Amino acid sequence: MAIYKHVGVLRKSDAADFDRFWAAPARVEYSGIYQCECRHETTLRGGEPAPLSHRGHPPGVPVTWRLVVACWEATP
Ligand SMILES: [Zn+2]
Repeated sequence: MAIYKHVGVLRKSDAADFDRFWAAPARVEYSGIYQCECRHETTLRGGEPAPLSHRGHPPGVPVTWRLVVACWEATP
C-alpha cells in the first residue's frame, strides 16, 4: 500500500485509468506507483513495459498491474 504524510502533496482523482489493469509486458501509459494484484508495488515510467514478474509473486498467476498513484505530469 502506498503511504504519505503530507496531505497537500496528493490530489484525489476519479479517472477511469485507476481502474484499468496492465497485463505484463504491456507498456504502461503513466509514470507512477503501480500495484500488482498480489499487493506488491513498484514504480514505473510512462511507456515502460510492466514487469513480467517480481519477487514473491505466486507461481502460475498472471502478473497484472494497476495504477495507484500517478505523477503530476502524467495525471489522467
Ligand atoms: Zn504480484
